[in-house]
Amino acid sequence: MNIAQTANDMSSIVHADKAHVWHHLFQHRALDNADPRIIVDGKGLRVWDQNGVELIDAVSGGVWTVNVGFGRETIADAVRDQLLKMNYFAGVLGSVPGAEYAERLIEKMPGLSRVYYSNSGSEANEKVFKMVRQISHRHHGGRKSKILFRERDYHGTTIATLAAGGQPQRAAMYGPFPDGFVEVPHCLEYRSQFPGAEDYGIASANAIEEVILREGPDTVGLLCLEPITAGGGVIVPPGGYWERVQEICRKYEVLLHIDEVVCGVGRTGTWFGYQHYGIRPDFVTMAKGVASGYAAISCTVTTEAVFDMFKDDGSDPLGYFRDISTFGGCTAGPAAALENMRIIEDEGLLENTTRMGARLMDNLRALMDRHAVIGDVRGKGLFCGAELVTDRASKEPVDEKLVQAVVASCNRQGVIIGATNRSLPGFNNTLCLAPALIVTADEVDQITGAIDTALAEVFG
Ligand code: PLP
Repeated sequence: MNIAQTANDMSSIVHADKAHVWHHLFQHRALDNADPRIIVDGKGLRVWDQNGVELIDAVSGGVWTVNVGFGRETIADAVRDQLLKMNYFAGVLGSVPGAEYAERLIEKMPGLSRVYYSNSGSEANEKVFKMVRQISHRHHGGRKSKILFRERDYHGTTIATLAAGGQPQRAAMYGPFPDGFVEVPHCLEYRSQFPGAEDYGIASANAIEEVILREGPDTVGLLCLEPITAGGGVIVPPGGYWERVQEICRKYEVLLHIDEVVCGVGRTGTWFGYQHYGIRPDFVTMAKGVASGYAAISCTVTTEAVFDMFKDDGSDPLGYFRDISTFGGCTAGPAAALENMRIIEDEGLLENTTRMGARLMDNLRALMDRHAVIGDVRGKGLFCGAELVTDRASKEPVDEKLVQAVVASCNRQGVIIGATNRSLPGFNNTLCLAPALIVTADEVDQITGAIDTALAEVFG
């Protein structure tokens, strides 16, 4: 590794961080008698902290973002070249990489044709909500404005996306929230909400239809779902679910929005998570893996039919989509995204994700034989989870503190893993793994080896 800073520099950085940085999702009391950890260097799947400690990152930069791994020179070069040529002009005007990336992206998303740029997953999702509300006003006389979201799903951190969030601990104390957001049940078969259902996929999709009928189909404009619930416990919908969801949306003319902020851009072994299921969404949003964290970029992608609803002869001053994202006009995002996409294609990373994802799942399943505390293993491609329970019969979730002890033990062994964390009351009990798509078989084994040791340490 190459720690550029001297020890003196690093201690002043640590001091500056401790004195002035307010960290995300963090109880700062923990730093009263400790120093913050600062990640100073990274290459591939490995990172180094301020003390030179090397770690394998099994969560792609903490929140499943750095899909192509750290230290990619060609992305840095592409961004540098683009910034020197033209770094920014407001998004109302075009940019070369913006046009190129939109075209390349659309090639991978049959049925969709328009890309709206912004900077974060939350923002991309809010654009959809705004589009749907405007469609309601312009085309349905104010009807079809309600937005359905699913229990345990997460769509962002702004007030409106929290209103569309199925993770109560994230929203607690941030209300009041805007009206018109309605929850539908989750579809996790391991924690069945429809006992005795002959076909769990159909039963959990039918539960969405029940909500639409209860609310009144002419009030519901959008169904917003993660293709695979990520932070809410790694929930892969059961067979038949997506087909039935699509049918229901068509039947009641409800637009379907798939939030691919986590699953998009290769994470599950296809370009997008929904492509495993053969469905045709009206909106797809994406962010994290689009440029692997080398630049901030998110995309709201939709159909020509939706796009056309915002066009008229110009006589209506409120007729177009009156929205802007200042930094949606920054060219670093699409320049990085283009190179990120090239890397995924040229290095065969979708194929690697499928292969290594299968290995990761096999290893986790093998751990079930050795650790009764693992109640369920779930995942698709390189997004996998292991749910921890006090015993398999009762499925009682283990205490959140013990889950954090497993995460801490892996950390001490040099492996960064994640867990559902303070989002679901009583159910923050799933370990989450999402290594970069370049992960090797050896690295997969090291990751699950650390979990094996950690489970033995914490649960005996
Ligand atoms: N959607 C999903 C599924 C997410 O997991 C996240 C963040 O983790 C978001 C949206 C919000 O993305 P951002 O943090 O970029 O606003």
